[in-house]
Amino acid sequence: MNNLFVRMLIAGPSWFWGALKIAVNTISPFGSKKRLTVLIYHHVLPENVNMLDEGAIGVAAFNWQMRLVSKVFNVLTLDQALELLKKDSLPRRSVAITFDDGYLDNYTEALPILNRYGLMATFFVVGNAVKEGNIWNQRLTEAILKFDCEKVDLTEIGLGIISLANEEEKVNANLVLNEQLKNLAPKEQNRKVAYITRLSRERNFRRAMLNEAQIAKMVDGGMEIGCHTMNHPMLSVVPIDAAEQDILESKYYLNEVSGQNIKYFAYPYGKLGQHFTVQHAKLVEKLDFKAAFTSDWGTLCKETNPFLINRFTPWDKTPIRFLLRLALNFNRKD
Ligand SMILES: [Zn+2]
Repeated sequence: MNNLFVRMLIAGPSWFWGALKIAVNTISPFGSKKRLTVLIYHHVLPENVNMLDEGAIGVAAFNWQMRLVSKVFNVLTLDQALELLKKDSLPRRSVAITFDDGYLDNYTEALPILNRYGLMATFFVVGNAVKEGNIWNQRLTEAILKFDCEKVDLTEIGLGIISLANEEEKVNANLVLNEQLKNLAPKEQNRKVAYITRLSRERNFRRAMLNEAQIAKMVDGGMEIGCHTMNHPMLSVVPIDAAEQDILESKYYLNEVSGQNIKYFAYPYGKLGQHFTVQHAKLVEKLDFKAAFTSDWGTLCKETNPFLINRFTPWDKTPIRFLLRLALNFNRKD
């Protein structure tokens, strides 16, 4: 069944796409009418997904997802979607596409596929990651991979003794350290990651994030850049004035790099009540953004607070399940 479906995705006749549209309308009879699903992606990787990369998708899966979305759904830019929503004339099965963090593979892998299907997307970029070429959790992962010892002693920075004897232990160490370090303010986080990378003797971190020239080219091609802070802090653990400073600095920097007026914001980590609060939503509104996006699952309708827009991506390996879950998402209230 799945094989046949995949074959139809590649060379399906028009009745096939028509039938899928009817199927989606049937699954979400009211929801698909006036609701928007905002898809969220992070990494799009050229080969099989690395076990250490959370939230990543392989390029082949991303390709069939975009083909399916372009044929069955109405893909809109955030500007178009919000405008149509205001006028109450959002078409059925409306979808917008977003990426968080600004990884280099968004340019090398995702962009050619988006262009192939004529799709526009918004890329939420971390300012300092563009400047420095990498982000703390990537430096951490590369350091963990580099260690060639059974254990590493991190008691001096309060992280205990970590086992790294095989790949499974390294995957586990990566998860555990990520969880512990993401709760720290950027300065403390950088200090501890620097300590670990020194121990690992990993010095040559590969460039993993978009650079300024790539951002400019993406904008030339019609893509939109959004703000994802300067240092990717968990907003709930930094003082509110530091959060304001971080967001503003990033907005000004990205205005300059993109030549666009940055209108949209995505909260780092993105879970309301856990990683940021309503206070931050008010702050983002005050800083002259037009809308802001969480990582909680949901849809957007006319009544949704534009500074608390939820997103959704079905992480399914088969097209049928992907389509079904995307259709079902339109039944969510917010
Ligand atoms: Zn992020």
